Amino acid sequence: MKYFLAIIGGGPAGYTAAEKASKAGKDVILFEQTSLGGTCLNVGCIPTKSLLYGAKQYYNAMHAQKYGVTATGVTFDFAAMQKRKTIVVRKLVAGIKQRLNNEHCTVVNGVAKVLDNIRQVWRIECNGVEYEAENLMICTGSTNFVPPIPGIKDNPAIWDSTDALAATELPESIVIVGGGVIGMEFATLYHELGVPVTVIEAMPTILPNLDQEVVQVLLDKYRKAGINILTSTKVESIDGGKVTANGEVYEAEKVLVSVGRRANLQGLEALNDIELERGAIKIDEFCRTNLPNVYACGDVTGKIMLAHVASRQAEVAVEHMLKEIVNCQLSTINYSAIPSVVYTNPEIASVGLTEAQAEANAIPVEVRKLPMTFSGRFMAENDGETGLCKMIIDSRNNTIIGVHCIGNPCSEFIAAASCAVQNGYTPEDFEQVVFPHPTVSEILHELL
Ligand code: NAD
Repeated sequence: MKYFLAIIGGGPAGYTAAEKASKAGKDVILFEQTSLGGTCLNVGCIPTKSLLYGAKQYYNAMHAQKYGVTATGVTFDFAAMQKRKTIVVRKLVAGIKQRLNNEHCTVVNGVAKVLDNIRQVWRIECNGVEYEAENLMICTGSTNFVPPIPGIKDNPAIWDSTDALAATELPESIVIVGGGVIGMEFATLYHELGVPVTVIEAMPTILPNLDQEVVQVLLDKYRKAGINILTSTKVESIDGGKVTANGEVYEAEKVLVSVGRRANLQGLEALNDIELERGAIKIDEFCRTNLPNVYACGDVTGKIMLAHVASRQAEVAVEHMLKEIVNCQLSTINYSAIPSVVYTNPEIASVGLTEAQAEANAIPVEVRKLPMTFSGRFMAENDGETGLCKMIIDSRNNTIIGVHCIGNPCSEFIAAASCAVQNGYTPEDFEQVVFPHPTVSEILHELL
């Protein structure tokens, strides 16, 4: 049998594409070497958020006094938190399985390898069986990058994020190498559960791609709370749990290395003509590679390594694939309107350009900002916090090109700001949108 579409990788890109193409009545086969859901569901977003939620419950109970609540004898059971996390992941994986099943998509569990393309048919091998498909979609994701720091290899004290998520016991202390998204989310988890944390970041600031005024709010809070955050500090070597950086030694039971991820190109050796860009598969606006009928979506494209980018890319690619057949609407992805969230406490949420990025692109901007305390709901629920919300407006055409917030629960309303950026709203357009009262989202309205 010749499939219309063969997909390698069952993460947010792969399963979204599989469901969409199957729904359109196409024969689809999806290969997944481990578990459906990919990094995000199995060893990324969902397990991290499950554990972070447990830690937040404990932390809030310990700090409940400011709301007039006295909680005594509060303890936590990390193994129980882990157990709950596993149940959440299992249920979601089963949900994806069910959805693909409902659409009659064939799922093969195994390592797929592209063999060749003969007369416009792609041949793929998996578990010793050969399959054929008209279109091929590569959704193989990314893997943790291991930097060439002496002492990392075969060091039992070293963790990557997958090891940290699998541990059934908390470390007594931890050094985190890399103050990016993964580093700061794990710093939050361990700190809230009482583990001494040191973060070592090579750049002059943590979360270097985010608005730095927003990041400063987090830095001030975390440093005051006792998290040791070192910036402009390069790790020279690691020996067991001893990390040498800028001539100083920082020691902990475990060392979490979170210095980025790289596109996973394994199993694609036969595609030796595929064009790469900075170690990832180069794609066009419809997620097409340079090879005929080969698409790539998700982390493997190295665009923006976020699950919601992967699933949107998959929609775009499948629409393009189907366009001739089912008069399907053709769309592209607007990379300048992608929201992102860092699940620290408080959360950081942003969309579009920062003030610094606008400046680097010679875009003249008007910057509006307010502390989150201008929202009544924020005041009611975030004692002792100030937060910050910034709106970046392109002065040339008065359109909103960026929004950057810190303060709980900004992750839940950043999508409203994304709508404004995606649709090129002026502040006057956005002002016509009614925001429910009292919600923290009203901070956006306050800025208009
Ligand atoms: P990252 O790129 O976000 O951060 C890596 C950090 O490590 C950077 O700040 C970098 O300057 C620093 N660094 C690099 N080499 C170093 C060294 N030798 N010593 C000290 N610091 C060093 O990467 P990440 O945190 O590993 O995350 C990987 C990907 O996963 C990112 O694309 C991220 O957006 C994504 N992710 C997203 C979420 C979310 O959406 N909430 C959560 C986790 C991960």
